[in-house]
Amino acid sequence: NRQILLASRPVGAPTEANFKIVESEVPKPGPGQMLLRNLWMSLDPYMRGRMSDAKSYAEPVPVGGVMTAGTVARVMESNLEGYQPGDLVMAYTGGWQDYTLSDGSMVFKQNPDMKRPSQAVGVLGMPGFTGYMGLMDIGQPKAGETVVVAAATGPVGAVVGQVAKLQGCRVVGIAGGAEKCGYAEAELGFDACLDHKRDDLAERLAAACPDGIDVYFENVGGKVFDAVMPLLNAHARVPVCGLISQYNATSLPNGPDRMPLLMRLLLSQRIRMQGFIIFDNYGPRYPEFLEVMTPWVDAGKVKVKEDVVEGLENAPQAFMGLLEGRNFGKLVVHIAD
Ligand code: NDP
Repeated sequence: NRQILLASRPVGAPTEANFKIVESEVPKPGPGQMLLRNLWMSLDPYMRGRMSDAKSYAEPVPVGGVMTAGTVARVMESNLEGYQPGDLVMAYTGGWQDYTLSDGSMVFKQNPDMKRPSQAVGVLGMPGFTGYMGLMDIGQPKAGETVVVAAATGPVGAVVGQVAKLQGCRVVGIAGGAEKCGYAEAELGFDACLDHKRDDLAERLAAACPDGIDVYFENVGGKVFDAVMPLLNAHARVPVCGLISQYNATSLPNGPDRMPLLMRLLLSQRIRMQGFIIFDNYGPRYPEFLEVMTPWVDAGKVKVKEDVVEGLENAPQAFMGLLEGRNFGKLVVHIAD
């Protein structure tokens, strides 16, 4: 049983030295436990937060502990009522490892005939749920409005943009590089997608949003938010989902304090800016989400792109890449068949 542990807490961007791979016997399930064989493992930006012991909404991974991850897994042995060997499950506490002992908490049974089991940690799992709920519940998009989202080709952003299109909105994405932007426009149906690595983002965004911005779905913060801020319309909604450009930051940026500018904008334009954590805020609404999203995915109304990394041992490199935009689509690790 290979396991990837948190060897030390990163300062700034994580490096190989922060991870350690160890190998041990496959564990035996005790009473009330089952043994899971992890097949697919999700890599997500939130894991950067778990590597740090700064105050957050969740406990950090202890140094020496197994890195946390959601996995899609097969039940191998079960001393747990309701679970049989062969069952396919999604386990939120699967972890960066080949096998997991589980008492069934935070485990959800999946349809064994699922065509793409990895989607249970992607478009039909936590990231898709996040994009959908944050947009619909906090963003409340209305037909004809302009919705802007960055990290536009990732699992959250791609759902936000495509669902906003299905609501009749104008959708402008922001992504890193021409290839990602081309994909967002040609495949995901965004009205425009702007490369944040090129100059003059603020000018290009203003040109792409001639009627201003009604919903800004915040995934990245930093320079992207700087470009968005002056374009926010009266009564704009800003679901604050993630701030990935800041996750590796060790200090505040230089420059004038622009907090008063933001506060004045929120007040004068009566803007609603609201943070949310998907499970904390929306856990009970997961079935409702699945009922809407599953047919959309099946019908191709919501398109899905996965970036598959082969082999558990390659997870640390892939995760470091995620924080720098090296992934293209939902990043999943294929551990076993
Ligand atoms: P993605 O697969 O989209 O990966 C992250 C992407 O962020 C990268 O591919 C890159 O895309 C972009 N990025 C990285 N650094 C920067 C930067 N400095 N400036 C601009 N963009 C950057 O991730 P997800 O779809 O899984 O997650 C998107 C966001 O949603 C994250 O902030 C995440 O933390 C948040 N989230 C929040 C949840 C909640 O409950 N609140 C739950 C799930 C996710 P590109 O190359 O296009 O710039």
